[in-house]
Amino acid sequence: MLLCILVLIFQGKNNNYEQSMYLSAWKCKYCGFDVQMGDFCTYCYTKKEK
Ligand SMILES: [Zn+2]
Repeated sequence: MLLCILVLIFQGKNNNYEQSMYLSAWKCKYCGFDVQMGDFCTYCYTKKEK
């Protein structure tokens, strides 16, 4: 029973981690490049716009 709870908590943390990784990725509106991380497009160096 305790093991099941620990596994659920661990999976929940993993999901949050993947979700935050996904949210940090963005698509450059100028060149369409998928930037995985950072606030600047690694292709055309355009700053991320919100
Ligand atoms: Zn770009």
